[in-house]
Amino acid sequence: MSDCLFCKIARGEIPCRKVFEDDDVLAFHDINPAAPVHFLLIPKPHLNSLAEAEPRHAAMLGKLLLLAPKLAKEQGLDDGFRTVINTGRGGGQEVFHLHVHVIGGGNIPPMVK
Ligand code: 5GP
Ligand code: ZN
Repeated sequence: MSDCLFCKIARGEIPCRKVFEDDDVLAFHDINPAAPVHFLLIPKPHLNSLAEAEPRHAAMLGKLLLLAPKLAKEQGLDDGFRTVINTGRGGGQEVFHLHVHVIGGGNIPPMVK
């Protein structure tokens, strides 16, 4: 998707503060952090949202989720972190390239009780 903001970041056309990169995924700090540590994990291939994920995306989704705790720890989030995947307009998604928010380091109240 040539027009997609996160595809442009993945291609290096828009700068970001990188947390991690390999052939499949990129992690970078959110431009408007909601907590002292707030980074985003994206697959490099474009996928609009979790709503469009199919069985063939299972390995990619697993990779994103397994990277979250590893990178969170590297970012100093020893005490835990929150993962958020906003999906669709009704889910508060603003950038339509699938991403996992990893948030922590502050006083994070429970979201669901
Ligand atoms: P969403 O609401 O779609 O789940 O979250 C999109 C996130 O992308 C927001 O937290 C927003 O701050 C972040 N964001 C939007 N534009 C940019 C950008 O150009 N660079 C970076 N690093 N983050 C961005
Ligand atoms: Zn994209």
